[in-house]
Amino acid sequence: MTPAEHRARFDPKRYASITMEFRCNLRCEHCMIEGTMDRLHPGRRQDFEALLARNRAERRWHGLILTGSEITLHRDLPELARRAHQSGFRHVRIQTHGMHLAKADYLARLVDAGVDEFFVSVAGSDAASHDRITTVRGSFDKTLRGLENLEQYPHVVSLTNTVVTERSYRLLPDVVERLAHLKRLVQMEFWAYWPMREDDAKDLIPRHQDVLPYLRRAIERCRAHGREIEIKNFPACLLGTDAHLVYNDQPNLFIDPAFWDEFMRNGFYQCVHRERCAASECLGLNTAYIRKYGHEATALTPLAEDPAARRWGEPPAVKRA
Ligand code: SF4
Repeated sequence: MTPAEHRARFDPKRYASITMEFRCNLRCEHCMIEGTMDRLHPGRRQDFEALLARNRAERRWHGLILTGSEITLHRDLPELARRAHQSGFRHVRIQTHGMHLAKADYLARLVDAGVDEFFVSVAGSDAASHDRITTVRGSFDKTLRGLENLEQYPHVVSLTNTVVTERSYRLLPDVVERLAHLKRLVQMEFWAYWPMREDDAKDLIPRHQDVLPYLRRAIERCRAHGREIEIKNFPACLLGTDAHLVYNDQPNLFIDPAFWDEFMRNGFYQCVHRERCAASECLGLNTAYIRKYGHEATALTPLAEDPAARRWGEPPAVKRA
């Protein structure tokens, strides 16, 4: 797959995502929905069927993402995947901590039901760091075994996500190296943490400029291993020629509407240079970040060209002051 083909296939705009489960058996310290999990309602079976029917009629998305807090805790996951596949979704993805993929027979059921994309959260670079962040002993070993179990299925792919926090940012290059042996792993994502509130109550937000050297090394290592890279919620201008790796689009998310009240508390898109900057994909800073570190006006630089164009191989759109 060429980089252009890869980006076209995995473009979030081509996916719908539905939350079908709000339980989780990890307690990650960076969990963005930990305060809302008990209140939010998962999608009902009729919501799920309505989404399938809509896509049958409109042919709007080529992939469906089954998600939640931890979707593998949903008893009927294989059946949901099979229904999605049969109803015409070309790709069925699960978003998961990956631990249950360590059970080979369970994984075989998911693959047999049509799941062909596995989006797996990797919190740290080894058992000690990962388990410290997930707060569950043994979680790294299971997640890694799950990712390794995918290797036997040539038609499936995995993508990973690492949340970038004060506790994890120094680990990023090592995370890439620890997963270097995985042949099915096609994309690694790095999401700068946002707390779903107006302050950083857990002291997890690192300063972007402290993260930068580690993120650069992780990008370098990903390239050396032939991985595509996606970065979310990080100022594009800090990345220089890699600014186009910032891509904040998300799939169409079907979730309890109460989620959005919490999400809006983040206050994204704050940047003193916003009016003069051409970076269409950049979320700027959020309220909690600004409360902790200020607006960082001198560290950020408005861009004259939209780096997102480079992502799609188009001539860059120029912003005139
Ligand atoms: S100047 Fe602001 S909006 Fe522009 S890329 Fe930097 S952080 Fe994003």
